Amino acid sequence: MKKRNTIQKQIILDSIKNTKSHPDVNELLKIVKEKDSTIGKSSIYRNLNSMIEDGSVKLILTNSNSKRYDGNTSNHNHFVCNKCNKVIDIMKEETIDKKLEKEYNFIIQEKNTTYFGICDNCILKKNI
Ligand SMILES: [Zn+2]
Ligand SMILES: [Zn+2]
Repeated sequence: MKKRNTIQKQIILDSIKNTKSHPDVNELLKIVKEKDSTIGKSSIYRNLNSMIEDGSVKLILTNSNSKRYDGNTSNHNHFVCNKCNKVIDIMKEETIDKKLEKEYNFIIQEKNTTYFGICDNCILKKNI
C-alpha cells in the first residue's frame, strides 16, 4: 500500500509539473486519470495538500475562489482572466523587484502577486 501511494503521488506531481495551465482539482483529475484511472479525487486532494506543505506545489486563489495548482515553484506572478479564468504566468518582473529593493532597502525573497483582468484571447473574441 505504501508503495502504491508513492507511485500515485509521483503521477500527480508529474501531472502538475508538466502542465502550464494551473489546473484546478477537476482538471488535474482528468490528466491524472489518463495515466492511472484508479486515482480518485480524495487521493488528489490529500496529495496536493502535502505537496503544498512541503513546497513542491503552489496554490493560487482566483477571484471565483477556485483553487488552482502550480507546479512551477519559482518566484513568479500570475494574471487571471476574469472572463475565462485562464491563469497566465508573468515571469518578467525582475526589474521591478530590483527597483523595489533599491528604493526600500530590503531583500525580496518571495512574492505572490495575482493580477486580475481580461486575457488576450477574450479581447480577441470580444468576450468583454
Ligand atoms: Zn480570457
Ligand atoms: Zn504559475
